Amino acid sequence: MISLFDSMYADDHEQVVFCTDRAAGLKALIAIHDTTLGPALGGVRMRAYAGEAEAITDAWRLAQAMTFKAALAGLDYGGGKAVVIGDHTTTQREALFRALGRAIESLAGRYIPTEDMGTTTADIERVRKESRFGVGRDEVFGGGGDPSPMTAWGIFCGLRACLEEVEGTAEFRGKTVAVQGLGKVGYSLARYLHEAGAHLIVADVDASRTQKAVAELQARVVGPEEVLTQSCDILAPCAAGGIFNRDTTPHLRCRIIGGGANNQLLTEEDGDALAVRGIFYAPDFAINAGGLINVADELGPGGYRRERAQAKTEAIYSTLKTIFAEARSRSVPPHRLAVALAQERIQAVRNLRRLGAAS
Ligand code: NAD
Repeated sequence: MISLFDSMYADDHEQVVFCTDRAAGLKALIAIHDTTLGPALGGVRMRAYAGEAEAITDAWRLAQAMTFKAALAGLDYGGGKAVVIGDHTTTQREALFRALGRAIESLAGRYIPTEDMGTTTADIERVRKESRFGVGRDEVFGGGGDPSPMTAWGIFCGLRACLEEVEGTAEFRGKTVAVQGLGKVGYSLARYLHEAGAHLIVADVDASRTQKAVAELQARVVGPEEVLTQSCDILAPCAAGGIFNRDTTPHLRCRIIGGGANNQLLTEEDGDALAVRGIFYAPDFAINAGGLINVADELGPGGYRRERAQAKTEAIYSTLKTIFAEARSRSVPPHRLAVALAQERIQAVRNLRRLGAAS
C-alpha cells in the first residue's frame, strides 16, 4: 500500500482530486503537480488499470513530466494529468466525459485537459459541454486538432540535434531507425524519417499498422518484443513508458534514443545506465513537447496559429542543443540536466512571486 501523502510530499505534488459519478460510471483522478508557471495543462488518459495504485502512480508520474515538459518548452503552464479508469474502447462516452467535465470545471481553471492515450478530440468536446476548460480542440471549433503530427515533427527536429551531437551531421539518409509503436505519433514520425531517407524497422501490436508501414514506407517489421534490441542508429519509442529498465538496457543495440513515449525511463537511475552504456538519450519530455506546444497555442493571443505553434515546436532542436551542451559542461547525463533546467526555471519564477508579494 503506497502512502498518498508521503508520495505527494516526495515529488512536490500540489493536489490530487478523486472524482466519481456512479450514474455515468466515472472513476477518475486529476493530478495537479505544479502550477508555479501557470495552470496545469495535460492530457486525459483512459485505460483499464490493473488497480487503483497503478492509476494513481501513472497520473502522478505523468503530471510531473508535464510540469517539466512545459517548463523546458518555455510555456507558462504547469503540469497535470487526468486518468479515467476503464476500457478506452467503450462507446458509452457522453455521460462519462461530461461527468469528468463537471469535475474539471469545479477546479475553476487550475487544470486544463487535452487528449492523451485512450481519448480523442471528441472526448474533449464532451468535457467542454460542462466546462470552460479543454484544449486540443477540433479545427471546426478553432482548435489545432490532433496534436500528434506536431509531436512527431518536434521529435524529428530533436533527432537532428541528437544526430549532430553523435555523428557531427544531421543527415538521416542511410540511417536505420527502429520505431516502437505506429500510432498517431509513431506513424507520423516514421513518415518524416522515410521522407528524409532513413531505413525503418517497425513494430506494433496491431498488425494492420505495420503492414501499412511496409506498403507505404518500405519498413521492415519485427515483433513488439524484438524492437528494442534491434541494431540501429536511432531507437524511437512511441508506445508505452517505463521501457528502459534493468531488464532491457543491457540488451539495447542503438546509439541514440529519442521518441514520443512519455516516461520512457523507469527510474532516473535507468537514464544513468544508458549513459554508462554510451547510449545517447534525448529526454522524452524535451523531445516530445510538440503536442503540448500545439494545444497550448489555442490559449495564445488570437487563438490557435499553426505557424506559431510550428515555430515553437521547431525550437525543440535548440532546446536539445542547449541541454546537451550544458550536460557536457556540468558533467551530468542529459536526462538529469533537463530536469535541473526545468526546476531552475520554476524556482526562478517562484522567487519572482515572492519578491512581488513582498513589494
Ligand atoms: P497511440 O495510442 O495512437 O499509439 C500507440 C501505438 O503503440 C499503437 O499503435 C499501439 O498499438 C502501439 N503499441 C502499444 N503497445 C505496444 C507494444 N508493446 N509494442 C509495440 N507497439 C505497441 O498513441 P500516441 O498518441 O501515438 O502516443 C504514443 C506515446 O507518445 C504515448 O506514450 C503518449 O503518451 C506519448 N505522447 C503522445 C503525444 C501526442 O501528441 N499524441 C504527445 C506527447 C507524448
